[in-house]
Amino acid sequence: MVYFVGAGPGAPDLITLRGKNLLENADVIIYAGSLVNPALLGFAKANCEVYNSAVMTLDEVIEVIKSAENSLKTVIRLHTGDPSLYGAVREQMDRLTAVNIEFEVCPGVSSFCAAAASLKAEYTLPGISQTVILTRAAGRTPVPDGESIRLLAAHKASMVLFLSANLLEKTSEDLISGGYPGETPAAIVYKASWQDEKIVPTTVAELAKSAAENNINKTALVCVGNFLGENYNLSKLYSADFATLYREAKL
Ligand code: SAH
Repeated sequence: MVYFVGAGPGAPDLITLRGKNLLENADVIIYAGSLVNPALLGFAKANCEVYNSAVMTLDEVIEVIKSAENSLKTVIRLHTGDPSLYGAVREQMDRLTAVNIEFEVCPGVSSFCAAAASLKAEYTLPGISQTVILTRAAGRTPVPDGESIRLLAAHKASMVLFLSANLLEKTSEDLISGGYPGETPAAIVYKASWQDEKIVPTTVAELAKSAAENNINKTALVCVGNFLGENYNLSKLYSADFATLYREAKL
């Protein structure tokens, strides 16, 4: 059996209980060594085989899984954050399906959630934005035409950019030409929830400068939008004059 497990954003105690249980029972762990905190391997059994997928190809990963499966071993494929975001899991799942190897997916706390926690922010503020755009700038990996930062910026929604910390000059230009005023608040969150986490408050116009000043060019999220500003409306949900299924309005 194979389990794709979300490791969470970094802090070892931000893996789910289910993920931890799976790690504790694994015979083989293949972890994404570029981002998964190696401290999580501390949950593994002493005799667990451990592979770092950062130095492996897709074929090599599949080979390790197949041979473990032949020996009836339990395999954990450990991905950073939640596997469904930039995890390259679909291609692995399809290869396993093709050779009739069963798998399950255990979700994880994505780094965009950890970043909000570190910022003590709420992405969906009434009157400001009710939408979060999770995206990336086009770099060595292209992005489909209709999803350019410029086009997405037109919504002026809350936006979180993954995998873009080394592309901030162009990203900043695209965000501004797309619709966010240059002074829109932004934050660069480096290694959210890790011991060496760094939070850099900035603006859309100053993204590249702020990243350079703080030597950040990877393992960071760029959060953009007025949800990082001062103004918003109070929620209806907890408003005294608003009735809900659970509470009458107090006039
Ligand atoms: N599946 C992961 C994302 C993998 S893509 C998730 O759900 O979080 C890798 C990118 O995620 C990094 O380049 C960085 O942009 C972001 N990232 C992952 N962990 C991070 C962390 N702890 N702090 C900030 N950014 C992080």
